Amino acid sequence: MIQELPLAPSETGRFALWLLEPLARVTDPGQRRQARLLASFHLATVALLLFNIARGMLVRIGGTTYSLLGELVVILILYVMARAGYVRASSILTVATFMVVPYTTLLENPGYLPGNTLAWFTLPVVLAGALLPWYAPLIVGALAAGSVAAFVNLTPAVNFGDVGSTFFLIINLTVLLIIFTSHRDRLEAARRVELHRTNERLKHQTDLLQVALAQADKANRLKSEFLATMSHELRTPLNAIIGYTELMLEGMSGRIDEEAQHMLDRILTNGDRLLKLINNVLDLTTIESRRVDLVEKPFSPRAMINDLSEKFKPLAQEKNLDYEVQIDPHLPSMLIGDQEHLVRVISNLLSNALKFTEKGRVRLSVKCLDAKQWTITVSDTGIGIPAEAFDLIFEPFRQVDSSFQRAYQGSGLGLAIVDELVRAMRGTIKVESILGRGSTFVVVLPIIKAPPPAE
Ligand code: ADP
Repeated sequence: MIQELPLAPSETGRFALWLLEPLARVTDPGQRRQARLLASFHLATVALLLFNIARGMLVRIGGTTYSLLGELVVILILYVMARAGYVRASSILTVATFMVVPYTTLLENPGYLPGNTLAWFTLPVVLAGALLPWYAPLIVGALAAGSVAAFVNLTPAVNFGDVGSTFFLIINLTVLLIIFTSHRDRLEAARRVELHRTNERLKHQTDLLQVALAQADKANRLKSEFLATMSHELRTPLNAIIGYTELMLEGMSGRIDEEAQHMLDRILTNGDRLLKLINNVLDLTTIESRRVDLVEKPFSPRAMINDLSEKFKPLAQEKNLDYEVQIDPHLPSMLIGDQEHLVRVISNLLSNALKFTEKGRVRLSVKCLDAKQWTITVSDTGIGIPAEAFDLIFEPFRQVDSSFQRAYQGSGLGLAIVDELVRAMRGTIKVESILGRGSTFVVVLPIIKAPPPAE
């Protein structure tokens, strides 16, 4: 499926947005919105002024062009102020500038129709409503209406009928804007109060979360420490039980009859199982509490694999399984890595493969994937793993068959340890399997070549 990506603005669009965007130090969203509004008004005015200046130059109206240039400079200064975040000052000065414009026009061109020129007094009223609080349109409206009335009184050639519509337009506009802006300001004030409350609530919740997080962290650390200490304490008496049982089985305490030997065998087997479980719990807790440091040293991968394959061969023979070991001839003779962790990983994968396979073969192969990575693959023709369990088997204490009557023993900790160790070695592990046909575990690790030994 082709996914529609949101359209990125073009270069021109980005430039236009940049022209309106206030500086980053203006953080309040309301102030940014107003700065954008003000900047767009300034830019529109600049465009109009430039157009008028060009027109003035074409028809050579010198005086008008100079006053337009003056206005252009003022508007540009106000634009820079708005983008720099001086929104309130720029707003007041913008309104004041447009309040002055009709006066300059009247002074420069006394012959203009007064109604047309006086209509420009509506602009500062509208601007005051858009940019400033509710009392601004009241003040500006009163000043504008007063200016129109004064103009009629001071100019004998003009009577009220000429400018009446402008006068009432200003009054109407002022009243409407006062109603609108007072409503808007109330909403804005309510929004600010709500925002403040929400911020306070969020801050309170963040504080609570931080406390809870610190507590959870502490509890987790205590759990790991408790498990580590307990496992350690359990191992000592258990080793004594196993040791003395072995001595009794060897006849050190005198002859024992067949029934006692059978019982001691059971004690020994179960003692071993318990010891394995405790060792796994201890390993997982040390790994989880990040107390595992990588001890990276040069080692020979070939020698390591040969040792491991010798160790597991008897188990495969016992179960009548074909046992294959393949080593890529291109694999560097020496690598740098934590050999102890690697042995742990491969042993866990091999013992699982041998445990869960009743007929067929178990294969261990080590290969160079490319110049930067090597792989360790353990595959078997055993019972296989259902696809939905591919992830859960790497979680602690999780097994495909977790019932009490399950056919295979185990604690469900082996792959969790493997996963953590592989991650610590900056590698990855993945599993492929077909139920009833077999499983393949592939570990990918980075190649860190050891420098050749000094002559
Ligand atoms: P354990 O083997 O002690 O139960 P692991 O963490 O090593 O714990 O394995 C978790 C589970 O993953 C096993 O119980 C088993 O269900 C499944 N599993 C692991 N390796 C294999 C394999 N080679 N073939 C089939 N199932 C496997």
